[in-house]
Amino acid sequence: LGDIPSGPLVGAVDQGTSSTRFVVFAANTGEIITYHQEEVPRVYPRSGWVEQDPAVLYQSVIICIEKVVDNLRLLNVDPADIKALGITNQRETTIVWDKTTGEPITNAIVWLDARTASTVEEILSETPGQDKEYLKDICGLPISTYFSALKLRWLLDNVKEVQEVAARGDLLFGTVDTWLLWNLTGGVNGGLHMTDVTNASCTMLMNISTLQWDPYLCKFFGIPMSILPEIRSSSEIYGYIGRGPLAGVPISGVLGDQQAALLGQMCLSPGQAKNTYGTGCFLLYNTGNEIVQSSNGLLTTVGYKLGRNAPAVYALEGSIAIAGAAVRWLRDNLKIIKSSSDMESLVTSVKDSGGVYFVPAFSGLYAPYWRSDARGTICGLTQASTGAHIARAALEAVCFQTREILESMQKDSGIKLNRLQVDGGMARNNTLLQLQADLAGVPVVRPSMTETTALGVAMAAGAAEGISVWELSRLRPVSTDGFKPTILPDERERRYKKWCKAIDRCMDWES
Ligand code: ADP
Repeated sequence: LGDIPSGPLVGAVDQGTSSTRFVVFAANTGEIITYHQEEVPRVYPRSGWVEQDPAVLYQSVIICIEKVVDNLRLLNVDPADIKALGITNQRETTIVWDKTTGEPITNAIVWLDARTASTVEEILSETPGQDKEYLKDICGLPISTYFSALKLRWLLDNVKEVQEVAARGDLLFGTVDTWLLWNLTGGVNGGLHMTDVTNASCTMLMNISTLQWDPYLCKFFGIPMSILPEIRSSSEIYGYIGRGPLAGVPISGVLGDQQAALLGQMCLSPGQAKNTYGTGCFLLYNTGNEIVQSSNGLLTTVGYKLGRNAPAVYALEGSIAIAGAAVRWLRDNLKIIKSSSDMESLVTSVKDSGGVYFVPAFSGLYAPYWRSDARGTICGLTQASTGAHIARAALEAVCFQTREILESMQKDSGIKLNRLQVDGGMARNNTLLQLQADLAGVPVVRPSMTETTALGVAMAAGAAEGISVWELSRLRPVSTDGFKPTILPDERERRYKKWCKAIDRCMDWES
């Protein structure tokens, strides 16, 4: 017990697509004291639909908090040492609830859900030039199934109860941060209806210059502004936990998970970037206080805004819908592995992918294509192909897509990254990271502390005005593992050309 550092602690709720975690950090050292993780279920009611039960998401947070408080007591650490709590979350996922009952009206529509493909088509048919990028100057994003505005439009169009509750004036909308914040601060008994700039910037309803809900965007998507939460900075005291073992602890940091990882990886200067391999894979590139509009299929989002009066820091983002989700698919649908951790031994049982290319475009393709008509494809199968080849091809798919994003990033910024900082659950896989270095031709660096998402929001929460137990500039994660490219450029280009052929084949499938 002598090893447990004393001093203020900061808790971080990380509500992801695959699991919920609650991690407690020592503010003085940035070390993890304890954590608990719960896998969260997903529901697939129809082809292309992905839902989660909002009540289950909130409950998983409560379970994680309770388990962690028990752990702290076992460690002889006083839970009252937790001086602040941060929330980081899967982004874009859309929840609507009745403010008088606190009950969600339908399941959450998860970011991956592609049911809004027809909504996108309808909207595009009425958009000048049918231009996906028509709203980009205002919000930084292309019109796509991915963003909350489309999901909310779909709910208002298709679910009678949503329409009724909206007509009564009792409807509230939120992304997962807002839903958790509302519940943790009291729910029907005065819960706060707020979000932070990073989550708001992924809804497609926020103006990235004013950092407020944009009346034109809301009108464009037919969203009543009264159901939207108040937008706050990513680091300030929002309110206090209403009940349970952490009652009274201030909630003082909120960040979308990818933005939290940017902070947790200490990418605090323009030109720094990180790539997070989770359910999907997201590369964020810090562009400082400048809004850089991509001409190459990337998104412009808010990276963070650390304090009410602090300026916003922006990021270019390359989003890949399916990364670890393909591993989960190999486990749950093809059943060629029992657990994600079996991937490494399976893929190293073969020396290469045997000419197999796998584009897991299960719900279309995100950056840089933004095509909801694409569907998954496996090419190059022969009599000799095995599950191990397909599994290896699934890892290579994330690496090829990351290369595509790096190229877009380079075109937009004019700068070539000299190393790729990585994290996320899938980045535990060493073979994946070696393949990434080989296929993108860039050295890959993984920090020893892989809970960078939780760390990022703990930093924001601990550094907030009125809390000030964490100095942002003080901690630097030590990079331990590095992966260098080992293949020759000819080989790299040969394999990339094949990948591009596979990409061509998955387009236009659903149109
Ligand atoms: P999220 O934040 O989206 O919930 P995580 O960062 O927790 O996701 O990563 C979980 C994902 O990583 C899962 O989709 C899982 O299949 C994948 N994953 C976990 N371990 C491995 C591994 N050793 N090899 C490949 N993929 C893995």
